[in-house]
Amino acid sequence: VALTVTNAILDGDRVGLRAAEGRISALGPGVEPEPGDETLDAAGMALVPALLNGHTHAAMTLFRGYGDDMPLMEWLERRIWPVESRLEDDDVYWGTRLACLEMVRGGTTRLWDMYWHPEATARAVADAGLTAVIGAPLIDRGTDDGPHGLRVSAVDTLKTLESADGAVKPALAPHAIYTVSEESLRWVAERAAEHDVPVHIHLSETRQEVEDCVREHGTRPAAYLDRVGLLGPRTLLAHGVWLDEAELELIGERGATVVTNPVANQKLAVGGTFPYPRARDRGVAVGLGTDGAGSNNSLDLLADAKFFALAQKHAAADPAIVTAAETLEIATGARAPMLGGAGPLEKDGLADFALVRAHAAELTPGDLTANLVYSGTGAVVDTTVARGRVLMRGGIVEGAEEVCARATERARRLGIV
Ligand SMILES: [Zn+2]
Repeated sequence: VALTVTNAILDGDRVGLRAAEGRISALGPGVEPEPGDETLDAAGMALVPALLNGHTHAAMTLFRGYGDDMPLMEWLERRIWPVESRLEDDDVYWGTRLACLEMVRGGTTRLWDMYWHPEATARAVADAGLTAVIGAPLIDRGTDDGPHGLRVSAVDTLKTLESADGAVKPALAPHAIYTVSEESLRWVAERAAEHDVPVHIHLSETRQEVEDCVREHGTRPAAYLDRVGLLGPRTLLAHGVWLDEAELELIGERGATVVTNPVANQKLAVGGTFPYPRARDRGVAVGLGTDGAGSNNSLDLLADAKFFALAQKHAAADPAIVTAAETLEIATGARAPMLGGAGPLEKDGLADFALVRAHAAELTPGDLTANLVYSGTGAVVDTTVARGRVLMRGGIVEGAEEVCARATERARRLGIV
C-alpha cells in the first residue's frame, strides 16, 4: 500500500510526499493522497533524509554499559570475548532488534553490520523493517581452526545472506589486518571479486596497529591492504584514525570508503582523530558510524554527527573546517555512494526519511540543519519511514516493549545484567 505524507515542511515550503513500492513517487506542494493510501499528517514537522549507520556491531547492544571505563584489551579479554563465546542465535537476534529499535527512534534506516551469527542479524533487520549489509567477522589468528574455519564462515555467510530478504545483502568482513593472516586476506579479496560483494574491515584504529603493520609487513595498513588486493571501490574501512597522506592518496585513487566512528574512538581513547579534511581533499568517500553499543554506548547517529563535527574542528583548530550541512550529508551516506544511502529527497529516490518535530525546544529557533547537527539528538525524530513503510509514528514503535524485555532476558542469560 502507498503512503502519502501531507503538510510537511521541506526547505521552508509546505509539501506532500507520496511513497509507493519503496520509492518516492511524488514530492512537492499540492501532493495529495490517492484513494486507498495510508496517510500521515505531518503538520509541524520537517522532512529530512534518513540516516545511514556505516559501521556497527548491532547485537552488542546486549553489552551496553558492560565494562565501561576499561582499557581496550582488558575490556575485550575480561568482558567481551568470554561472553561472545557463549552467544546463541537468539542473543544476536534480540540484541539486533534492540539496536534496530534504537536506530529507528533516531531516524536511521540503513546500517553496515559486522557480527557473529549474521543470519540472526539478517532476520532481525528484516523483521524490524531496516536495510543492512551484513558480514560475519572473519578471524583466523589465534583461533582453533585457523584459515580453514575462516573460509567455512565466509562461504556460509555468502550462501545464507545471498538468498535473504531483499533488504539484506552480504559483505565479507575480515575483522582487521592484525586478526587475519595475509593468506586469508588474499583469499577474501578473491572471493569478494568473484561474488561481487563488498569488503568491510576495521583499519588503522590504533597507533599500535600501524606500528605492528610496519614492523611485520614493512608498510602502513592501507598500502598493505592494497598489496593483498583488498583496497578497491567496494571496500569499507572503519575508523582510519591514523591514515597518513600517502595512504589517503591511495585510498582516494582506489575509490575505497572510510567510515569514521568519532564517539567510539573518543570513548576508547585512541588518541587521534580521523584526518577528514585531508581525506576530503583527496576525494575519499566518507561515511559515519556509531560502532557497537559496547564502545559507544548509543546508536544515536544524530548525536554522533555533532561529535564528528566537533572532533574535526578541534583537531584542525579551525571551526570552519566542516559545516553542519556537510556533516548531515555524511550522516545520511550522501558522501559515500558505495554505502547505499537513500540519497536526497527527490522523486524516484528511495522512500527512507524521517519527520522531525520542527517546534521541539532544541530545534527552536534558527536554521534546521544547524540545529539538527549541533543541538538535536534522535529525540527530535517523530516518525521514521524506511522503503515507504512507517516504522515509527508519533515517537511510537510497535512492539518496542517486547524488544526491550527480550533483549534484557538475553543479557541476563549471558550474565551481563
Ligand atoms: Zn567496530
